[in-house]
Amino acid sequence: MFRIQVPTEKDKFELSELARMFAPADEFEFLTEEAADNHAGGEECSPLGQDPEPVYRISSADKNQMKRDLYEFLSAETGKELDWGILTGVRPGKLYNMLCEQYGQTEAERKLKDDYYLSEGKLALLRDVHRVQQTVLQDSRPNAIGVYVGIPFCPTRCLYCSFTSNKITKDASVKYLAALFDEISKVSDIMKNKGLFAESVYIGGGTPTSLDEEDFERLLLHVKNAFIRDGSSEFTKEFTVEAGRPDTITEAKLQMIKDSGAGRISINPQSMKQRTMELIGRSHTPQQIVEAFGLAKKAGIPIINADLIAGLPEEEPEDFADSLDKVIALEPQNITVHTLAVKRASRLIEESPGYNYNQGEKVRKMLQRGAESLREASYEPYYLYRQKQQTGNFENVGYALPGTASLYNIRIMEENQTILAMGAGAISKIYYASRTQKLNRIPNVSNYQIYIDRIDEMIQRKEEALND
Ligand code: SF4
Repeated sequence: MFRIQVPTEKDKFELSELARMFAPADEFEFLTEEAADNHAGGEECSPLGQDPEPVYRISSADKNQMKRDLYEFLSAETGKELDWGILTGVRPGKLYNMLCEQYGQTEAERKLKDDYYLSEGKLALLRDVHRVQQTVLQDSRPNAIGVYVGIPFCPTRCLYCSFTSNKITKDASVKYLAALFDEISKVSDIMKNKGLFAESVYIGGGTPTSLDEEDFERLLLHVKNAFIRDGSSEFTKEFTVEAGRPDTITEAKLQMIKDSGAGRISINPQSMKQRTMELIGRSHTPQQIVEAFGLAKKAGIPIINADLIAGLPEEEPEDFADSLDKVIALEPQNITVHTLAVKRASRLIEESPGYNYNQGEKVRKMLQRGAESLREASYEPYYLYRQKQQTGNFENVGYALPGTASLYNIRIMEENQTILAMGAGAISKIYYASRTQKLNRIPNVSNYQIYIDRIDEMIQRKEEALND
């Protein structure tokens, strides 16, 4: 057990996040100055009464210096080094871009290395992502926003899922869509009144294709009529539909996607190993993934993304490499490599509480080999983010063949554009370019039944934030 003294209550939260990257939370106790003095008489590394374990004292008032002190202490104690250094935030790319703007690229990278302790590998990754993003983000209009529409249903619940996902039934989907269409129509009206247009539209979830064909078509038509613009300079550049689970994809649904004008879909194998699919609670086979890709190509969908996860239960680096090779052979334009995040709300954390720490080395090998294979196949990294409780504290990286990067994915990580999000559990972010506090987060309630009951309030909250 490490007992660590910090100046104030407020510092406990941020430093405990960094500490948790070295060892499980129950191996730490954070004390404020007052509490530690009661125990130890305020001496540095002094015994706690009868307790032989030391208090490590952090006294700097500077947040980053506190983190560096803690990092060095824990690194020496555990023998671990962290590729992301003292960075605990979910958007390292946003920090990289901000530092580049402020100091220039060379100085920004020096700071990240010396002040934040980033490894050379992560710096190179950020540099590559930054380069691709610069080309995609040109030509942005001030009245352009992103639009997200969420469908909180899936055929079954995956073992690691911590999202808003419910088993689909016809009754639930009909009631949910009625409320959602109301929200979509009113938000579309608000946007028109304010002169805003959707630069990108993303239908995600959950699994939107878990709706039956009739409901799925109604959804696509409603979204298209409300948000998709063409034929003017303010046109919608990107329309994406998640078709995540291969067992929910049919030829008819793909044709509906194509007819709606959506140019992108995401089919998410996560792994190509049959045993893993059973373990994570998916009811499809690798062969169904291959068939879904075949159908999507036949339907003429221009850009297909495939998600894979590194660190799934019982998988070795060879399993991950095999899955990636099989996915590359399907020739998707985008491949997103996630690192498994085992969150509190998932079944997996109940079954295996130490999972995040035990898998770190394996996942490192998976990601390294994955990055090499993807580069050899001409994919470039174009966006990345981290999640809390991510195995080995790594990251998720979106790769794309040149010219196919997703604008929506970049925007949502950059947080420099308003995103209006509709549906249960969807979080809108209103961006204010001229304010110090630039983002206002407006979450919809996660429970879809409560969302239906409180739909007027969900709409009103967004309208008020936009009027602000
Ligand atoms: S497909 Fe995604 S949202 Fe649905 S249960 Fe699995 S992880 Fe959760």
